[in-house]
Amino acid sequence: MPDLGLSRRSTDGLLGRDIYSSANGAVERISFEDKARRSCGSLVCEGGWVRPWRNRRRPVFEGQWGCSGRCVLELVRAAVRRESGKASGQESGTHRHRVPLGLVMLAQGWITNPQLQAALQAQRASGSGRIGDWLMSECGLEPEQVTRGLSVQWSCPVLSVEGFSARDMALVMPRQFVEEFRLVPLRVAGQRMLYLGCEDRLNASVAYAVEQMSGLKVESGLVDAPSLSGARDKLLAAEGVEYTSEVVPDEDTMAARVTAALEQRQPIAARLVRVHQYYWLRMWLESGTKGSAGSLPRSTEDMQDLVFALERS
Ligand SMILES: [Zn+2]
Repeated sequence: MPDLGLSRRSTDGLLGRDIYSSANGAVERISFEDKARRSCGSLVCEGGWVRPWRNRRRPVFEGQWGCSGRCVLELVRAAVRRESGKASGQESGTHRHRVPLGLVMLAQGWITNPQLQAALQAQRASGSGRIGDWLMSECGLEPEQVTRGLSVQWSCPVLSVEGFSARDMALVMPRQFVEEFRLVPLRVAGQRMLYLGCEDRLNASVAYAVEQMSGLKVESGLVDAPSLSGARDKLLAAEGVEYTSEVVPDEDTMAARVTAALEQRQPIAARLVRVHQYYWLRMWLESGTKGSAGSLPRSTEDMQDLVFALERS
């Protein structure tokens, strides 16, 4: 295959048991090679003759250049098909036969059986609320203790917000995802690992998307609720990459919108990835946009995100 900066990663990691450990999968890197001349990446290209006024370096989408708007559209359509074929990630993680949190806490000796019964009783009586919240309100547990219990339940680390830089982390993903999925990118370690903090459950779909976009390995973990919401507030107050969010009727319309954006903005690198029900296009518009860690942007300058959602029929 020619110059495929971003080949498709096996979805085994997404569907397999150990979906939250990225350690077993190689993270792909977004290609920032500045090639003087490129050949068309479209598999259905009938080209040969390239319009003399067309730039031969851009736009680049997932490591490939298209010789015409039609060829760019073909590249985009293939990416949309690839992403829509993936498990949405919504179902993963919700019913995975995890040991209930209350039993985890009991087994660890962090609560007594009467305490658990009291919390369950209160939850049943109110008909709502998470058991962790009831353990705090009924039994006086601290948020940190509940987070520790959740980390045992999810077999993941407890992360701290130490070293969190709102300015840097606001560049990782559109704020829409931070708001909606109750998670916060926390920090980059060693320029190759990104820590993603979640409140009460891990999020494989977001973790995978961030890996694809950042070229960094993502380590997910839980952060106690007060610390996480503090970090989230700071992140949301910081300036993020400019983005637009749009609902489109179908995948064809989305592919046309993505193509139009690529043709108009002429990025030197771009990538499309699905995040639950959303499709996220990120464009690096100039060569100075890439920062020191993976393909995370250096600043908001010359970066653009587009987020699409499909209309529900
Ligand atoms: Zn072509």
